[in-house]
Amino acid sequence: MFMKKILISACLLGDPVRYDGQSKPVDNPLIRQWQAQGRLIPFCPELEGGLPVPRPSAEILGGNGDAVLEGRARIVTREGDVTREFLAGAQAALSKVIKEDIGFALLKEKSPSCGSAFIYDGSFAGNLVAGYGLTTALLRKNGVVVFSENEIDRIAYCIKS
Ligand code: SF4
Repeated sequence: MFMKKILISACLLGDPVRYDGQSKPVDNPLIRQWQAQGRLIPFCPELEGGLPVPRPSAEILGGNGDAVLEGRARIVTREGDVTREFLAGAQAALSKVIKEDIGFALLKEKSPSCGSAFIYDGSFAGNLVAGYGLTTALLRKNGVVVFSENEIDRIAYCIKS
């Protein structure tokens, strides 16, 4: 039987790839089941874009992932502009889903790469706003259905139907 694959933020599977060298593992029976079935394809756009671990935290300044793709917003740290590396990571994610024929993604909420409903507002003051990250924007533009770790039941429904 053909099993639909899911691109998943590597940090959600316990890989210590976040900016602070930590992970954000999700303890969920469906995740364990999909992992055992070989459905989950872990990916970290920021690492693939050439950024190290640890690295300065980054936020989108001036909009969401679409605005970055359109050149109307940038991704910055307190030390400088990392838009180029984030774009490279998003492109790498797109190449991965095309190569592996992946139609769904389960990405870490609130990240400037992976967020799908909320991101920080670029002020580095902890302010969340409605929006989505750069990798999410590029994947959605190319037909990938993106969910967050708060929507595991929704992605389960989609991959069954
Ligand atoms: Fe996790 Fe995505 Fe950030 Fe990588 S870029 S650490 S996968 S949230």
